[in-house]
Amino acid sequence: MTEPVLALTDVRKSYGSNEALKGVSLDIAPGEIVGLLGPNGAGKSTLFQICSGLFSPDGGEVRLFGMGYKDNASEILKQLGVVFQSRSLDLDMSVRANLKFHGNLFGLSGKLLNQRIDTAAAFFAVTELIDKPVRTLSGGNQRRIEIVRATLNMPALLLMDEPSVGLDPTTRKLLGQHIRGLRDTHQTSILWATHLVEEVEHADRIALIVAGKIIRVGTPAEIIAAAGTETLADAYIALTGVKPMAAVVE
Ligand code: ADP
Ligand code: MG
Repeated sequence: MTEPVLALTDVRKSYGSNEALKGVSLDIAPGEIVGLLGPNGAGKSTLFQICSGLFSPDGGEVRLFGMGYKDNASEILKQLGVVFQSRSLDLDMSVRANLKFHGNLFGLSGKLLNQRIDTAAAFFAVTELIDKPVRTLSGGNQRRIEIVRATLNMPALLLMDEPSVGLDPTTRKLLGQHIRGLRDTHQTSILWATHLVEEVEHADRIALIVAGKIIRVGTPAEIIAAAGTETLADAYIALTGVKPMAAVVE
């Protein structure tokens, strides 16, 4: 078996007496798209912060590309792309200035960095926005720029926490297509956290997370079969007891 790009074993995390993660185990293979699906408060963002090395778990093991953060943080971060739940571009700078700053953090500069920016911008169809101030961009386009930024270092693993919150349906669909394109062209593995069932319908596998526990992992077809329902939305209700949320458009 190929080594997983991400391997979580019995990961635990509490905020005071609130057990946000109660022993989460999950593997992601190279080139695999995994949807982390669960309601608000399930622990998705907490898991992302642990996967991206922002903080350590109270217990369990987190390995990326066969390494742990304790001894190999910089090696890991070189191969990682992260899109956080909150927006994080500098609104007063141009798109290019934002991207250059981030590229520099990864040791990219000059011609190579400009090439990476232009290629990624073309891939996500945002070339014409590149010299505009971020403030003038729609929420959807800002999100796309954040994804461009997260892919400048050609990450082997891209972590995206609710990347489509506030986006309209067309942009959300496009986002899904771009992400699958990224996987197809670069073998990028993707962990996509969301509370929206429709966003993970095309994932290779779905991990259902409820109240700090992954209650089931499988292909969309396996999840539907396990629940004995017709649709993934009904399977989600049956397995989690949670009503799916409709997307809120900005
Ligand atoms: P999700 O991203 O799935 O909505 P979170 O990881 O944000 O879930 O939250 C999981 C649980 O941890 C919730 O009960 C939330 O209130 C709590 N929580 C999250 N972040 C913090 C924090 N910084 N301090 C205290 N509690 C937190
Ligand atoms: Mg969250």
